[in-house]
Amino acid sequence: MGVVVQKFGGSSVADAAKIKAVAQIVLSERRRGHDVVVAVSAMGKTTDNLIKLAREINERPHPREMDMLLATGEQISIACLAMALQAEGCDAVSFTGPQVRMMTDEAHGKAKILQIDDSVLREALDQGKVAIVAGFQGMTPRGEITTLGRGGSDTTAVALAAALKADVCDIYTDVDGVFTTDPRIVPEARKLERISYDECLELAALGAKVLHSRSVEIAKKFRVPLRVRSTFLPASLGTMIVEETPDMEEILVSGVAAQRSEAKINVLGVPDRPGIAGELLGAVADANINVDVILQNVAADGLNDISFTVPRDDLREAYETVQRKAKEIGAREVKVDDKIAKVSIVGVGMRTHSGVAARMFRALAQAGVNIESISTSEIKISCLVAEADLERAVRAVHDEFRLAQALA
Ligand code: ASP
Ligand code: MG
Repeated sequence: MGVVVQKFGGSSVADAAKIKAVAQIVLSERRRGHDVVVAVSAMGKTTDNLIKLAREINERPHPREMDMLLATGEQISIACLAMALQAEGCDAVSFTGPQVRMMTDEAHGKAKILQIDDSVLREALDQGKVAIVAGFQGMTPRGEITTLGRGGSDTTAVALAAALKADVCDIYTDVDGVFTTDPRIVPEARKLERISYDECLELAALGAKVLHSRSVEIAKKFRVPLRVRSTFLPASLGTMIVEETPDMEEILVSGVAAQRSEAKINVLGVPDRPGIAGELLGAVADANINVDVILQNVAADGLNDISFTVPRDDLREAYETVQRKAKEIGAREVKVDDKIAKVSIVGVGMRTHSGVAARMFRALAQAGVNIESISTSEIKISCLVAEADLERAVRAVHDEFRLAQALA
């Protein structure tokens, strides 16, 4: 029988009753005859609370100590889940990241998994045990504890599934899968049966609260079949995230993403010389800020306007950086708009069908939504709109591509 990896997020293990309910889900997978490895997150808001605690003590906690602190959250959940399974007469054993040799690089707070030694887990499985592994944490070759970045337990689970060549990696969460859009904006949003790794990566990058991006990258690389499903509706099969198949291209648009956390920086009156855009955006990149939609308008008299978006959280730093640089290169003025949002459509069908963008723009126009700028990739089209228009924009585009209707 094959191995199944299950991951339970913080809301799934938020209290004793929920941990017992999770144990029942693990047990039913066992009864189906699978070897089960479980990755768990910290209980409820534990990680947030630990971060708050650290900040109360030291405004700039040392990253090593921060990881030492945050890793404790997951250690609580694994022990409790093991106890819950043992109370049901199921042999279970918990492991920290270091105990299963979850080896990472040295980047505290955003460490990348380098390698897993599956021998500890294999041994536990061979002894008929359920193995429970702390999500979100690992160890450097020098034995330091690291964490993988917020939401990183998904990545732990997928890495375990890849190492163990699991049949499936089930990500149990508080929603029943990946939806065509945010159901809080469009109540008729439909759950998707299947999407491709690439679509899921785009949706994650666009802020759709699905999976930790890195987990999808690893799943794609090692071809781990991934499933997002609900802890509270275990009978439902959720959404499968799989390799792209030719029939997926029949569907033009799989989902609409809404992203509020954007801000736009306009640099006006930039001298039109080669290398200027590189200098300006290079300075922002050096500050470790991700620039997204970039636009350059040709203004009069050898002057250009350059605008681009950054995550709203990074706006202050980006603004200061750009102001400094703008002075240096002799630009006239820097303006900021933090009431901006982004609506995007994602679908592998865009690779082979034309006219998708025009339909999106028309739908927005008919809804009276002004498009401020546009960016595209092979399987995505994003439009910046005023934040006040975002929900109307999402509804219009979702309607245009008839995403609420089940596919024939
Ligand atoms: N506990 C960590 C967090 O809250 C990891 C996770 O939940 O995946 O970010
Ligand atoms: Mg979490």
